[in-house]
Amino acid sequence: MILIDGGQGEGGGQILRTALALSLLTRKSFRIENIRAGRKKPGLLRQHLTAVEAATRISKAEVNGAEIGSRMLTFAPGEIVPGEYHFAVGTAGSATLVLQTILLPLATASASSHLTLEGGTHNPYAPPFDFLQKAFLPIINRMGPEIVAKLERPGFYPAGGGKFVVTIKPATKLSPMSLLEKGKSLSKTARVLICNLPLHIAERELQVIAAKMSLLPEQLQAEEITKGPGPGNVVMLEFVYENVVVVFTGFGEANIRAEAVAATVVKEAQEYLAAEVPVGTHLADQLLLPFACAGEGAFVTQPLTRHAETNIAIIRKFLDVEVSVEKLAGKQRLVKISRIL
Ligand code: ATP
Repeated sequence: MILIDGGQGEGGGQILRTALALSLLTRKSFRIENIRAGRKKPGLLRQHLTAVEAATRISKAEVNGAEIGSRMLTFAPGEIVPGEYHFAVGTAGSATLVLQTILLPLATASASSHLTLEGGTHNPYAPPFDFLQKAFLPIINRMGPEIVAKLERPGFYPAGGGKFVVTIKPATKLSPMSLLEKGKSLSKTARVLICNLPLHIAERELQVIAAKMSLLPEQLQAEEITKGPGPGNVVMLEFVYENVVVVFTGFGEANIRAEAVAATVVKEAQEYLAAEVPVGTHLADQLLLPFACAGEGAFVTQPLTRHAETNIAIIRKFLDVEVSVEKLAGKQRLVKISRIL
C-alpha cells in the first residue's frame, strides 16, 4: 500500500486527485493522510468526495474514509469499467476537477465511455470548461484517445448548476509527446461570459483587454447567458498557436471592479508571452500526469508552481519515471519525463 501525506507541498485537493488517477491507472492501492492539510477547511469537501465516488464507481474500488470532512482515505481499485456514468457534485464545486480524476483511466480503458458531469464549470482555482476543451483535451487527443467535451450549461461559483458531457474513445496506451515550441500565432480572442449581471461589466472588461493586448473589435466577444443560475462573470483570453492553445481566465467577484478582473487576466497572459514558452503554468501541472503515463515526453514551460512540484512528488510514488527540470534561457524551463530503467 502506497502511503501519501496529503499535507505535503501544495497541500491541496490536487494530491488526492492525482493519487486517485494513478491508483486507477496502476491498480496500486494507497492510503492518504492529512488530506488538504494546507487549506483553511481541510479534509474532503463535496468536490473531492465526488471525485472519490467517481473513482470508486468506475473501478468498483474498496474505500475507507469517504466522508465529508474526512482527512484520511484508503483506496483499493478493481478493474476499470468503462461505460455510461453521471456524476453530480451537488454544490458549485468544480466538475472539471472530478473529470480530471477519472479521465486518463477511462481514456486508456478497454471500451468507450460517456460521462455527464454536473456542478461548477467555471470556478476560480480549477480548470474552466473552456480550458479543458480547448487547451487540455486536444493535447490528450494527440496522445491517442478521442475525447469530445460539450458544455450544456455553465455553472458559476457560488450558484453551481452547470452541466457538460464527455465522450471518450480510448487508446490502448498514451503515446509520448513533446511540446517544445508553440509555433506560429493563428488567432487571439477575448471572450466574456456574463449571467444575471449588467452587460456593461462585460463591455468594460473587453475594453481593458482590447487596449492592453491590442485586440481589434472583431476579436472581442461578450456572451450573455440568460438561462441558468447566476450571477456569473468569466473573462477568457484564448491564444491559438500551431502547436498549442492557451486559455487565461479571470473570475468576476462581488466588490471587485470589472477593470481589475480584466487586468489579472492580462497580467497572466503577459507573463506567459514574455516567457516565450508553449505551456503555461496551469497546463504544466496538468500535463505531468498524462506525460508520465506515456512513460516519456518533454515540454517547455514557465518556472514550476508548487502545484506542479507536488504533482511530480506524487507521480514518483506510483510510476517508475524520472522527471527533470532544466533551466533554459530567462524564465523557460524544460521538463523532461523519462523511464527509470
Ligand atoms: P483545494 O486545495 O481547495 O482542494 P482544489 O481541489 O480546487 O483545491 P487544487 O489543489 O488547488 O485543487 O488544484 C487546482 C487545479 O486547477 C490545478 O490543476 C490548477 O492548475 C487548475 N487551475 C486553477 N486555476 C486554473 C485556471 N485559471 N486555468 C486552468 N487551470 C486552472
